[in-house]
Amino acid sequence: MSDHYQVLGVSRDATGEEIKKAYRKLARKLHPDVNTAPGAADEFKAVTHAYEVLSDPQKRRVYDTTGNENGTDNGFGGGFSGQGFGFQDIFDTFFGGGAGGGGGGRGPASRTRRGQDALINVRIDLKDAVFGSNKKIDVETAVLCPTCEGSCCQPGTSPRTCDICHGSGQVQRSVRSILGQVMTTAPCGSCQGFGTVIPDPCHECAGEGRVRSRRTLTIKVPAGVGTGTRIQLSGQGEAGTAGGPQGDLYVEIRVNADPVFVREGDDLHATLTIPMTAAALGTVITMDTFDGPREISIKSGTQSGEVTTLKGLGVTHLRGYGRGDLLVHVQVETPQKLDAEQEGLLRKLAELRGEEFAEGRVGSGSNAGVFAKLRDRLGNH
Ligand code: ZN
Repeated sequence: MSDHYQVLGVSRDATGEEIKKAYRKLARKLHPDVNTAPGAADEFKAVTHAYEVLSDPQKRRVYDTTGNENGTDNGFGGGFSGQGFGFQDIFDTFFGGGAGGGGGGRGPASRTRRGQDALINVRIDLKDAVFGSNKKIDVETAVLCPTCEGSCCQPGTSPRTCDICHGSGQVQRSVRSILGQVMTTAPCGSCQGFGTVIPDPCHECAGEGRVRSRRTLTIKVPAGVGTGTRIQLSGQGEAGTAGGPQGDLYVEIRVNADPVFVREGDDLHATLTIPMTAAALGTVITMDTFDGPREISIKSGTQSGEVTTLKGLGVTHLRGYGRGDLLVHVQVETPQKLDAEQEGLLRKLAELRGEEFAEGRVGSGSNAGVFAKLRDRLGNH
């Protein structure tokens, strides 16, 4: 077994505060939420175990005199140093699961708990979803108390071993039952099972070890996100109590509706309205896209509903390469409010095309559409 002092990188005469600081630093670096490198979880386990022993005055004394924490363990601890305990047990015991009771004779509960995850919504424009962007966000979470740095004690003071339970966090009671006199263990009421009491709680955080704070973060919004996409920021959530690690922050994206473009998957759609004459004669129209102006060629005889595809001008694919397309739907506008001269020209055109009494057609096949059979109303007769 490696030396607990070495594991934490502290000297053998380190104070409880130094041990706590060393542990906090290492736990932040190695915490499985933050560090996914192989071996990090084992290291975190070793560090946590070392801290569990050295932070407890009784266990530390036993460890210092016997060189191991199990030898003459007075019925305290031993708990999660046993091999049968999985990582989750250690985690629970240490960061909350076991707090407030230390059920099963596990020794004093830790004040240290991992903070909760936090969720905030962020609105972005469609263009930011297409290309990605950096976004400043205001976050308000609990953070480590700057005054006591998570010790929960007013600076200059320190926790004191509980007089009632002598640091075990538990009291034994004999209870009469039908089976006779039974000894049960209950969390110490004087220290709430922590084994220590804080005689002078930090004035800034009221002894919680954390305070609420507002800060501005710049987050990287990756290209391709959509409404509902969540970005996880490890260790940016709520700070835990008594110097416990921070939870994670989840940023949920909401994409604002765009006045021009509608997104479907990673494709963008836009409607381009052109005059009837342009549709008939053909033209080139410049259209503003997110990539700047693009020329769209309208061939003569273009019909309403035709689609021009601009390859690769859509939304960037979220975990991958390339982009969707921009589909431009052409809508042909029928002129309204004709003046006398225009009306005359159109009548002339209708006459030349033999359409004065034209009938609509009900289409079929690829050009299917519903064309009501309408009497031509051009000639008012
Ligand atoms: Zn404080």
